[in-house]
This record gives sequence, structure tokens and C-alpha cells, in this order.
Amino acid sequence: MNPASNPGSVAAGVPPAVEGGVSPPGILVQASQGHPHLPPGKMPGSTAGKMPAAANLAPPTPPPSLDDAERETYGWQIDLDGLGESGQRQLKGASVLISRVGGLGGAVAQYLAAAGIGRLILAHGGPIRPSDLNRQILMTHAGIGQSRIDSASRRLLDLNPRLEIVAIPENISPANADALVAQADVVVDAAPLFTERYAINRAAMAARRPVVECAVYDLELHLTTLQPGITACLRCLYPEPSTTWQRRFPILGAVSGVAGTLAALEVIKLITGLERPLTHQLLVANLRTMSWRKLHTRRLSDCPDCGHLPHA
Ligand SMILES: [Zn+2]
Repeated sequence: MNPASNPGSVAAGVPPAVEGGVSPPGILVQASQGHPHLPPGKMPGSTAGKMPAAANLAPPTPPPSLDDAERETYGWQIDLDGLGESGQRQLKGASVLISRVGGLGGAVAQYLAAAGIGRLILAHGGPIRPSDLNRQILMTHAGIGQSRIDSASRRLLDLNPRLEIVAIPENISPANADALVAQADVVVDAAPLFTERYAINRAAMAARRPVVECAVYDLELHLTTLQPGITACLRCLYPEPSTTWQRRFPILGAVSGVAGTLAALEVIKLITGLERPLTHQLLVANLRTMSWRKLHTRRLSDCPDCGHLPHA
């Protein structure tokens, strides 16, 4: 669904909603596969220099209090300027849906569990395979053939037994996306397939839930935070599915881990207000060369998933 990898959509005049002169790297990477880049230059509708503020997550109820054991456990981060006990309470009161807990989503889940998130809703189907183990850090060799979601849940509870886990032994699809997204304050999209990503995006935009959108390929990572009615959504960035994307792709676990760790940080920023998340910005990192850059994103007014939302 990368317009740059789909000459038809470019010819039809569908502009990419990323400015900066590179192809939007969605589930990324079509650029790495040798597809033509878009010409450099500013895109129409640039938001450069006039970016609105990020939305604050307003918890529906006052966040729960902390006991002394929790203050001790999270003391090193409670000391952070901008987090404090109030931020820790917001983490405790938050629910986060993670679509897949493999190489990418597993790292997100691990750092959110360590940070004291209250509730994780984890969706991932299937049994552990040997080929998962180069990157899926919540899986074990002894668990090959057994449920991925059970292994992930056990490992996370070993780390933080206070954590509440809602374990969904299936992947997100158009059939279950609305119900799962409705249970979450924040959604993390770490799915490998466009069908899943589109289902998450549509449901999240409809339910007005922010989405931390992260993706990896080879030694590249892409990360942005989608805020309904404020920023571009995934469909704005990738109006059409890729015709070249393949389920299996080259990836190193350390790269998934970096991307997942950054995505967890985005979630923490969103929930606590610790710092501004990647609003209207797509972080692109090439870890072969250790080069990092941020591209501006913009909404498409005719986007089928978010075009109807009033500007927040
Ligand atoms: Zn959109």
C-alpha cells in the first residue's frame, strides 16, 4: 500500500501523505526493495512549522492510587521529570491493545509491563515455531509447538505479576477489531500484514483511539503515532495495499527490539504526558548506517478512514 511501490496509484493522482522526498515506508520497506522513490520536495498541505498540539489522553476515571510496594518498584522512573507519581498512576490505570506480540510487539509488551502498565490486551494466534526465536523474545525454545499467546503472557507475568493480561489467541481481523479496540485506551500496531493493519486503523479511527504505528524491515524501522482527527492515519499514509509485500521478510531481532522499545516509549508519552509523542512525524531509522530522520505527515481530506473526522 505504499504509493511509491504502486505506480497505478501514483498515476491516479493519489499523493503520499508524507513530506520529505522519500516513499512512505509503511510496513515499510518497499523502498528497500528497490521501488522508485518519489521526487523530493514539499507536499501540498504541509503542516511544517504549524503543527497543532498533540491530544492529551483524558482518563475516564481518576487513575488508581499506588501502594508502597509499587512506589518502590517504579521509584526510578517516578523520579523522572514530567512523570512523577501522577504519571505512574496513569500508567496503572491504562489499557493498551497490542496487535501481535512477536519480535516487535513482544518488545513493546515487555517494556510496558516493566513500566507498570495496568492492563495489556494481547492478540496473537498460532503456536511457537523455531523460526520465531531469532526475534520473538517472549517465546522460548521449550515452548515450540505451544501457544504463542500463553508463552507471552507467562513471561510478562514473571516480569510483573501486577499486570492484568487479556490474552486473545487470534490475530486482529475486521471481525474482531472493533471489540478489541473498544477495550483499550491506546492501540499498538505491530502486525505483519496489511489486512490486519487496515482493520486496526479503521477500528481505531472510528473509536477515536490513538495508535502507535511501528514497523520494521531489514535494518530499518518506522514509527509514528496516529491521533484521530489530529494527525494522518495509516490510510492517509498508505491509501492502497502493497502489491509486493510478502509475509516473510528479512529481520534481525535486535532491530525489532529497538523499534518495539521506541514504540513503548511512545505509549508511555501518550498516557502520561511525559513528552510530546511523534505527532505529525514519521521517524525513519536506518540501523545499518545509524541514520535517523523525521518526516512530516499530513491528513488526506478524502481518506476513507479518517477524512470524516472533525479536526480535534
Ligand atoms: Zn486517514
